[in-house]
Amino acid sequence: MTNSEVEFQEKMRLLAASFVESLPEKTSKIEVMWKQLQAGWDVEILQMLHRTIHGLADSSKTFGYLEISTVARILEQELKDLVQKEDPISEQPFTQINEQVLALLQVATKPAPSHTQESASAFKNISIVTQESSGPKQIFVVDDDIEAAQELAMQLCYYDYEVEVFSQLSEFRLAIKKTPDAIILMDVEFPDDRLGGIKVMKEIQQELSQSAQVIFISAHDDLLSRLGAVRTGGIAYFTKPINSAELIEQLDSLSSSQPQVSFRVLIVGDDPALLTYHSTVLEQAGMTIKTVLSPMDVMETLLEFSPDLILIDLYMSECSGIELTKVIRQLSNFVSTPIVYLSSEDDFNTQLEASSLAGNDFLVKSIDPQKFISAVTSHIQRDRLLRSFMERDSLTGLFNHTSITEQFDREVVRSNRLNTPLSFAMVDIDSFKSINDTYGHSAGDRVIKSLAKLLKQRLRETDIVGRYGGEEFAVVMTDTDASKAIKVMDQIRQVFSRLIHLNEDNEFSVSFSCGIADIVHFSDTASMAAAADEALYQAKQGGRNRVILKEVASNTCSNGSDND
Ligand code: GH3
Ligand code: MG
Ligand code: MG
Repeated sequence: MTNSEVEFQEKMRLLAASFVESLPEKTSKIEVMWKQLQAGWDVEILQMLHRTIHGLADSSKTFGYLEISTVARILEQELKDLVQKEDPISEQPFTQINEQVLALLQVATKPAPSHTQESASAFKNISIVTQESSGPKQIFVVDDDIEAAQELAMQLCYYDYEVEVFSQLSEFRLAIKKTPDAIILMDVEFPDDRLGGIKVMKEIQQELSQSAQVIFISAHDDLLSRLGAVRTGGIAYFTKPINSAELIEQLDSLSSSQPQVSFRVLIVGDDPALLTYHSTVLEQAGMTIKTVLSPMDVMETLLEFSPDLILIDLYMSECSGIELTKVIRQLSNFVSTPIVYLSSEDDFNTQLEASSLAGNDFLVKSIDPQKFISAVTSHIQRDRLLRSFMERDSLTGLFNHTSITEQFDREVVRSNRLNTPLSFAMVDIDSFKSINDTYGHSAGDRVIKSLAKLLKQRLRETDIVGRYGGEEFAVVMTDTDASKAIKVMDQIRQVFSRLIHLNEDNEFSVSFSCGIADIVHFSDTASMAAAADEALYQAKQGGRNRVILKEVASNTCSNGSDND
């Protein structure tokens, strides 16, 4: 067991222990209320007694005290019927309930050992979601043709990969032992051996404890080489000249540098022990949790915390989980946030009503931790996927027009409020029609994708990149003044114009033009967008492949034509 697993089990043990400690207080409360009811019928006291017993049934089940939970559950049902009737109790059920109360007090005073300890294995398997580091991924290019290798390395560097070139197999062998998780681009053919690269990889795969990630590159496309590549664990096989757009796509999927954002879960419930239990389990899986004890405090926390999922106790004293959901659903930001009820409710009608409110599900409070984590995870992932279909452009994965426009609006409001700089850039690929005409539509698509990737990789996490239309992109640069924006966009322009695209055997390069406007000169979304568009038009008029800033009085050209 890892340290964190030991810690988690210790937390669980303490939680169960504090539950046992709280039992005498609970039982005496129950005893007092029952005595009051016997002395004089009072609907309010009856409701309070029902809620207390309900809570006890839930928490005892969760912490593994099944005997208490079973007795409490029977009594709870009985009281529930009475609460619904609201009539004073008659002689016969009175005796029956009295017996059940006494039975509950008895089992709760001397609780049998918790079953949780036997099922502790359920806690053992909880996997901890670790945050992947999103630093640059190391690539080794191994090729005796040093010029070709360096050209390839340069193309990869543009996409923020860290690349090392080896022309000698012996040097590479030493390096891969030190950095076994590097992605290897291995040439198949070496001067003294037509399958030298494959043979070396075969030996290395046997020496390393985990198999190395290797992509083969070769001037030949014959079955023998391809078979050899597959047999030594080759993930892909590229023939020279290499289509760098396709290669980057492979590398991106291998290194998947997307940072894993921690799931944010808000838990609302009025039983502190259960809140702690559920938040401890989810925190163990790497999620960020906020808990709210009173449904009345939910609104404030909601807006501040902006959860990916809300867990609500279906049955609370101040208001029901369903009522709370209806309120949350009226807030425009939370219309579709998944809401999951923690319930012990076996009342089918309540479940039916609750589930008819969009995006909802039920989990019993005493659910096994591993299942609890999976259920919450899958709800959040499904919601994120659905959202991404709505917000993202399918070709590039960037935000689509609607989404980038909405985010631009939001950033303008924020920037005006906080008085922080903000720039907006419009990017349009130059003479793109002729690319399509000369190399075909799918070559054009690959160019669009390569620019999308470059923008994502070169800009900061906080910049918002969208595909505005066909071969047009928009970038919202937060906390960035005009001069910084020009600098960044111009660097990207230079890199993009140096990329070599490949279609069949033709190599070509492409450029883009860019117009920029900032919030100092244009204070609202519409005028900023119009100004950036005008600047873009001027860039096109001025000869393309350039970045232009639009100011009220004058136009500033970044660096004229591409003479760098
Ligand atoms: P300019 O330098 O003035 O921007 O010239 P241009 O040829 O890039 O501009 P124009 O607006 O005339 O042509 C844009 C072309 O982009 C026309 C359209 O067929 C093409 N296009 C739009 N969306 C896509 C797409 O998703 N894929 C491909 N391959 N082409 C697209
Ligand atoms: Mg264009
Ligand atoms: Mg265009």
